[in-house]
Amino acid sequence: LARRPTNIPGEFKLIARLCAGLTMSRRTLLGPGDDCAILARPRHAQLFTIDSMVEGVHFKLVWSPPAVLGSRALEVNLSDIAAMGGVPTACTVNLGIRRGLDAKFFDRLYAGLRARAKSAGVDIVGGNVTRAERLSITVALLGEVPAAALRRDTAHPGDEIFVTGTFGDAAAGWRVLDGRIRARGAASKFLVDRFLSPVARLRAGARLARLRPAPAAIDVSDGLLQDLGHICERSQVGALLDAGAVPLSPAYRAVMGDDRSLALGGGDDYELLFCLAPGRDPRALSRSLGIRVTRIGRITRGRGIKTIGARVPAVAGFDQLEARG
Ligand SMILES: [Mg+2]
Repeated sequence: LARRPTNIPGEFKLIARLCAGLTMSRRTLLGPGDDCAILARPRHAQLFTIDSMVEGVHFKLVWSPPAVLGSRALEVNLSDIAAMGGVPTACTVNLGIRRGLDAKFFDRLYAGLRARAKSAGVDIVGGNVTRAERLSITVALLGEVPAAALRRDTAHPGDEIFVTGTFGDAAAGWRVLDGRIRARGAASKFLVDRFLSPVARLRAGARLARLRPAPAAIDVSDGLLQDLGHICERSQVGALLDAGAVPLSPAYRAVMGDDRSLALGGGDDYELLFCLAPGRDPRALSRSLGIRVTRIGRITRGRGIKTIGARVPAVAGFDQLEARG
């Protein structure tokens, strides 16, 4: 038998403790405590996604209180539902737990997770605990999409490319936490918050899903160039990106100046990128989506992403040869 991590009650006890007092919506016929949860038949097409956060890969424990980790583990999944234009409904959670963390730590982690689930209307319908070398939090999330889903494979040449929010903040915040970038005061706090506490653009996604034809869309988790590349690949199109138009926050500018490498190549912003037939006014879109929207380029025939407007530095994980189209 594998040995139990110290200070942790048996796994069944821990799950029971973490799930105690969870309330369920009417969609959930049976919540945690049985072999499976039972969910009522959904009214619409369903979305299903999963994402993991692993200590040492995605976060360090010294960076944030456990509640922030719990909330973020759900948020990155909410962002995938937002990217499809859906409404999140129910999730299951797997914890990989290592030695050295006590039950109180997981109480706090779950407090963050439960609070965000409640505000997002998500039932936590089940959980599992695995002993592991590293702490990890995995969330599998269901959603529904009442209208047409936003997909990556429906961009057309001539479409204009838009994004919500600003770019590079989270990547800069990560580097501030890691000591690779120096920042102070309000700018530092803003960037670090953008990394630790991203906000899934659920309302914007739901609004976009009402448009006809439904826009192609993706949430930008890997980096703007990478994720635009995913749309191009899936839609078998190219893109012309105005790197100078990519929106930057005042905090990003304060810390990075004119260096756009993190805005173009850094991940974890969880903003939406979407493609619409030409002629849409970004200001009207901003009002309708409830967040600032910026036009940053257009979809082209052919393959690859070409950039204009600002020097594009070598971006880790991005193939510059492809960028030359
Ligand atoms: Mg995604």
